[in-house]
Amino acid sequence: MDLQAILDGIHAELLPRLGEGKVADYIPELAKVDPRQFGMAIVTVDGQVHSVGDAQAPFSIQSISKVFMLTLALGKVGEQLWTRVGREPSGSAFNSIVQLEHEAGIPRNPFINAGAIAISDVVLSGHAPREAIGELLRFVRYLSDDEAVTIDEKVARSETQTGFRNFALANFMRSYGNLDHPVEHVLGVYFHQCALSMNCQQLAKAGLYLAARGTNPLTGHSVVSPKRARRINALMLTCGHYDGSGDFAYHVGLPGKSGVGGGIMAVAPGIASIAVWSPGLNKVGNSQLGAVALEMLAARTGWSVFGD
Ligand code: GLU
Repeated sequence: MDLQAILDGIHAELLPRLGEGKVADYIPELAKVDPRQFGMAIVTVDGQVHSVGDAQAPFSIQSISKVFMLTLALGKVGEQLWTRVGREPSGSAFNSIVQLEHEAGIPRNPFINAGAIAISDVVLSGHAPREAIGELLRFVRYLSDDEAVTIDEKVARSETQTGFRNFALANFMRSYGNLDHPVEHVLGVYFHQCALSMNCQQLAKAGLYLAARGTNPLTGHSVVSPKRARRINALMLTCGHYDGSGDFAYHVGLPGKSGVGGGIMAVAPGIASIAVWSPGLNKVGNSQLGAVALEMLAARTGWSVFGD
């Protein structure tokens, strides 16, 4: 299969549509991003790397970082994590507070904001916030085998100044005893993880362990067991796109995680890891053209986990 030709074809077809969707403007720093950008990269488990468009341009990975933090937290506390956060799709917006009250401060899953904030609290355990952030940065550099991955301090600051809803979610959970650390510390970690800045190629490499039974076949780095990789993929498939998770499974059929920076990381188990970026978002906060591009890719490669 000529993957480069498939990527080139997708890029050419989407060129006239660049700029569709709406960039996230509730984070002032993200509102400045030019929406007419598009990049995509594929890294296969046998080591091919293909990319197209703005695949080398760094962007704010935002909620995609939740996959890496979940991996770290599971490594720290194992299955006990599931006393702090659930594993069910939420059926509500990424920053919703309604469900939290009904469910006594236990977020539905690790990929909505409340769930990710609870997970930041777990990773923070035994550390100063700065150390927890450093641990994540080292982990993501190790996963992508690239020391150039950074955290964009401007984005982290922008969110710290305007993330009132995340402060509300965190305070609410703290009142239920589901956060062990001060809200400012937990959110310090959370905002910095969201501000990780990566390009499509780095992100596709970082996700490769999930496509390859927990071990990055390019570096030989063993990250998690095959069972854990399978389970993280299951969570991405059911919860990775907020209230658009069902629709993404229907159209694309790959485990994936989106972020409001316009990125999506997707996994074709046993085959490849894929990253796409286009900043314009659809109504539920997922990259509009990113999802279209992945739908095209899945259709042209037959990689959907539900069959070709
Ligand atoms: N940092 C963003 C927030 O907390 C993450 C949301 C997202 O990427 O979906 O609002």
